[in-house]
Amino acid sequence: MTVHDAHCHFFSRRFFEALGREKYGAAGGATVDAVANELGWEAPGEPAALAARWVEELNRHRIARAGLIASVPGDEDSVAIAVAAHPDRFVGFFLVNPTASDGLEHARRAFATPGMRCACLFSSMHHYRLDDERVAALFEVAAAHRGAIFAHCGYLSIEARTKLGLPTMFDLRFGDPLALASTAARFPGVPVIIPHFGGGFFREALMAAAACPSIHFDTSSSNDWIKFVPNLTLADVFRRAIAVAGAHRILFGTDSSFFPRGWRKVIHGAQRAILEEIGIEDAARAMIFSGNFDRIFAA
Ligand SMILES: [Zn+2]
Repeated sequence: MTVHDAHCHFFSRRFFEALGREKYGAAGGATVDAVANELGWEAPGEPAALAARWVEELNRHRIARAGLIASVPGDEDSVAIAVAAHPDRFVGFFLVNPTASDGLEHARRAFATPGMRCACLFSSMHHYRLDDERVAALFEVAAAHRGAIFAHCGYLSIEARTKLGLPTMFDLRFGDPLALASTAARFPGVPVIIPHFGGGFFREALMAAAACPSIHFDTSSSNDWIKFVPNLTLADVFRRAIAVAGAHRILFGTDSSFFPRGWRKVIHGAQRAILEEIGIEDAARAMIFSGNFDRIFAA
């Protein structure tokens, strides 16, 4: 069966540099290698080399296409290099802060670049509401370019920051799926992806999806937010998400990010087993593992 991964992070040099600057200051001179070493991760090399590393990894696991996320604002060029080199394998996603003075301009430039298809919002990190007019302005840009929006909701933790002892100044109240739904409803032609089934705001994410047909979920990560809900299992989550949103609005993803760990096969194994367990039809399974991704990000 064809498998696409809707959620992989492209941890480029710029990503490591941003972390190094934050930890050691602009003049601290922490090199990419030093930060990678501290994390116990491979240094990424140049974007073209990192892209080749990813292609090799996807080949090894027979993954056809992947959404590749530029994971700090302003890093869309790194992913654009990867996408330009491997347009049949990668779809470009890029983190943008629509409340930053240059946020919209970055989004416009990125969406105008071939293969760059999805703007990613981390409102808890950048402290804005998802029903803010500046978010609507970003949706307008996405609509004009037939792009998509990815909006992280719910619980947020970033492994690299935790490992480096960087403060996480997140305000989780900003990750509200219902605020997202109120903006998404104004732009019915813009596909919206909420990762990790809403990351703990599962009920709200389901309500958002019920209210708003453009809202999709990705299944990525270990989804350990289920620990916030007594007795909830990931099988329950899949069952309920399929019942409310339908299999046509669920995209398989892993949240893979760094090497040497590479592609998170274990996530795929666990989720394949769950879909087996809950007995969904082959057609629905094919939508989740590749069809929905191909529909939103038609080559
Ligand atoms: Zn992620």
